[in-house]
Amino acid sequence: AKGRPARATVSAPPRTPPTLSSPSKVIFPDIKATKQDVWNYYSAVMDHLLPEVIGRPLSVIRCPAGTGRPCFFQKHHTAGLSMVSSVRLKEDTGVNAHYLVVEDAASLLELVQFNALEFHPWGSRAATPERADRVVFDLDPGPDVPFAEVKKAATDIRRLLRQLELESFLRVSGGKGLHVVVPLNPGCDWDLTKRFAHGFADALATAEPDRFLATSSKRLRNRRIFVDYLRNGRGATAVASYSLRGRPGAPVALPIAWSELPKLKRADSFTLHDVPARLKRRRKDPWAGIDSLQQNLARWAQDD
Ligand code: ATP
Ligand code: MN
Ligand code: MN
Repeated sequence: AKGRPARATVSAPPRTPPTLSSPSKVIFPDIKATKQDVWNYYSAVMDHLLPEVIGRPLSVIRCPAGTGRPCFFQKHHTAGLSMVSSVRLKEDTGVNAHYLVVEDAASLLELVQFNALEFHPWGSRAATPERADRVVFDLDPGPDVPFAEVKKAATDIRRLLRQLELESFLRVSGGKGLHVVVPLNPGCDWDLTKRFAHGFADALATAEPDRFLATSSKRLRNRRIFVDYLRNGRGATAVASYSLRGRPGAPVALPIAWSELPKLKRADSFTLHDVPARLKRRRKDPWAGIDSLQQNLARWAQDD
C-alpha cells in the first residue's frame, strides 16, 4: 500500500528533520499521547500526507500545551521556522502576508516540532493561488442528526455531482462530519468555484429543506445538515487528509472509499493509534487518480 508520490523535486538529498524537543510532553491527555507519539504518527503517514499539503498555502492548528489547553490557528510564517517555506499572498484586507508552505518531510516535521497538530491547506496551490483545484463540500450535521443521515447525504451528493459529470471523493473529517471532495483539473477561478459550491448547497436546501441547510445559522441547524460551501473561497481551508485532529481520542481526517461508507459508524473512529497500521494493510489508495482526473466547472460558467 503506497500513497501517491510527492511531487518530484530536483534530485536534492532529503533534508535532515529538526530535533524533537519535549518528546514526553502530553498532547492528548485523554489517551496520554505525547509529542513523540504525534511526531511518530506524522513520520509514519508522511508519504500519504505530503501529497495533500506540499506546495499549498497551509494553515496549522498549534497546541503548545496539548489539546487540553488553548490551541490556535496560524496562517502566517513566523520567525524561527527555518525549513518551512512561504508564499507572499494578498489578504482580503489588501495587505500582503507570508503564508506557510511545506515542501518536504523535514519542513512538515519542523511544524510538528513547533507543536502543529492539525494541517489545513488551501484548495489551490502557492504557484497558482487564484485557481482552485479542490471543491470541498463539508457536511456539518446539527446535534440531533444521526450519523446514518450524514452518510446518506454524502451518497446523495455524490450521485448529484455525477449527474453534473463530476466525480467526487470521500473523507471522514475526524470530527462529526464527512467531506465530499471534487478535484478540478484544470483549476477554476475562486469566483466561479464559490458560486458553484454555493449554488449546489442552495439547490440541496431548496429541494429538501428538512435535510439540508445552506446557511451557517446555528439556530436552524439542530435536525439538519449544514452543507458548508464556505470551504471554497480564496483563503479558506479544509483539514488535510491524514491530519490529526485536536479532539478527544486523537482522531484522523481519513480518505475512505465510497464502498467503505455503508459500514462506517462515525467520522472520528480512525485514530493516531490505528491509522498507520491501516495504511500498511490498505491495498489501494481510495483517492488514487484524484489529481489526474480531467474535470472542471467551465461548462457552468454561464449559470447563476
Ligand atoms: P467536523 O466534521 O467536526 O465539522 P471539520 O474539519 O469539517 O470537522 P468544520 O468546523 O466544519 O470542521 O470546518 C472548519 C474549517 O475551517 C476547518 O477545517 C479549518 O480548515 C477552518 N478553520 C478552523 N479554524 C479556523 C480559524 N480560526 N480561522 C479560519 N479558518 C478556520
Ligand atoms: Mn465540517
Ligand atoms: Mn464546516
